[in-house]
Amino acid sequence: MTKKTATIIGAGITGLTAAYGLLKNGWRVRVIESSELLGGLAASVDLSGVPVEKYYHFICREDHELVSFINELGLGDRLSWREASTSCFIDGRIYPFNTPFDLLNFSTVPLTQRIRFGINVLMSQLRSDWYDLDELPAKPWLIRNIGLKAYGAIWDPLLRIKFGKYHDQVSAAWIWHRIHRVARSRTSMLAVNSYGFLQRGCHDLISGIYGKISTHTDFELLRNARVRKIVVDGNSAKGVELATGEFMASDAILSTCAIPGFLQLVDKKDGFFEKLASIDYINVVCMLMLVRKPFTENFWLNVNDPSISFNGVVETTNLNPRPDLDQSKILYIPYYTSADDPKWRATDEDLYDEYVTALKRIKPSFSEDDILEWRVFRDWNAQAVCRVGFRNVMPGFETTVSNLFITDSSQYYPEDRTLSASVRLGRQVTELIDSKGQTCNGSM
Ligand SMILES: Cc1cc2nc3c(=O)[nH]c(=O)nc-3n(C[C@H](O)[C@H](O)[C@H](O)COP(=O)(O)OP(=O)(O)OC[C@H]3O[C@@H](n4cnc5c(N)ncnc54)[C@H](O)[C@@H]3O)c2cc1C
Repeated sequence: MTKKTATIIGAGITGLTAAYGLLKNGWRVRVIESSELLGGLAASVDLSGVPVEKYYHFICREDHELVSFINELGLGDRLSWREASTSCFIDGRIYPFNTPFDLLNFSTVPLTQRIRFGINVLMSQLRSDWYDLDELPAKPWLIRNIGLKAYGAIWDPLLRIKFGKYHDQVSAAWIWHRIHRVARSRTSMLAVNSYGFLQRGCHDLISGIYGKISTHTDFELLRNARVRKIVVDGNSAKGVELATGEFMASDAILSTCAIPGFLQLVDKKDGFFEKLASIDYINVVCMLMLVRKPFTENFWLNVNDPSISFNGVVETTNLNPRPDLDQSKILYIPYYTSADDPKWRATDEDLYDEYVTALKRIKPSFSEDDILEWRVFRDWNAQAVCRVGFRNVMPGFETTVSNLFITDSSQYYPEDRTLSASVRLGRQVTELIDSKGQTCNGSM
């Protein structure tokens, strides 16, 4: 029997999960990745000789697909769970924001709104249906439930971190799932949220998958190789063309790049492709700092201060202490933005100057001398904007071109973009490609 060849565009977690599944199912698999690094948004870079994720990643207790995959890969002994605290910087002060007692002390918000906030978290934790929330915008839904002051202090910064200028267009279903997932990651009502992490973060996961698939004789990886075109004949995908002009024939093609990138690869216009083009995306720009000593004791610090242009600081070493970093600490300052925002075009040095000033405002004793290393990472189309009614817009895996399949962050909805959802998409699309390969072509 001749084996079929699947080409996967992108070596992020979805592409690598699909490669793993298809190899297991007897396919010949070719992964094409435009970057030198594996892992896409979950890639790691070398910082002082140690692999550190470009972007922070925490795991929640509801992330069952990811946890089961970690175990399947034999990485279960590298997964740990710890309590990790959250605080809010508001009115020049840092307020702890973890337990019902912290909520009672969060005096910047009126007491009745604090109580309504707690009730909303509890109700969201218990709720499982979300279709009616898809019809409502998050902002008025939250304000109605918890009050304006509580919204401004607590959820507005988070929505701004995630969606930038689109923060008030996001559906209530999206924020409901975010509250639901995080709330279910605490072990009891009175406990601080607890999150999971791998010893060396996503590096363990990505190298763990790669370790399994790279030794397979039917696996081929092309790094630093950009697909510039998906070649379609009639209404069937036949292969891909690389930026070098080389054509690579394929029985099935899976694009795991964000939809705007995918649309540049296919010259096809019909209702399906027009619908894809209607989804807006937002880019991410994130500063990573390696610092000499802890900035705060929090994992997550919401920042709500009009003089500071970012909305949060994520200090991942307060979740994962990373003993391999020799006492140094890691800070991420994420910011989601569109291409027309000056911040997207700002130089790394300008961002650095701006962020150091802001960090000093949050913690006056912070000094530039505390910074050992810093980098700025940018990715286009890092997050789909999940507007009201998004349920009717999110695409399936199959396209209107036969043998051509897609995965994209819009398919997680109403979930936030997570590694776990990426693993789920990778597995589901594997099953679909496999079933189509067998039923349509019958030569496996
Ligand atoms: C700031 C930030 C924080 C996050 N925090 C968390 C978290 O705490 N917990 C969590 O679970 N998840 C988190 N995530 C989400 C998680 O990183 C993503 O869900 C996941 O990595 C997406 O994987 P993917 O493979 O679907 O896509 P990507 O990682 O985007 O992979 C797509 C790949 O395709 C490649 N590619 C694109 N176009 C081409 C082309 N033409 N030719 C060849 N290759 C191409 C890209 O280079 C990329 O490697 C976070 C993401 C960000 C940005």
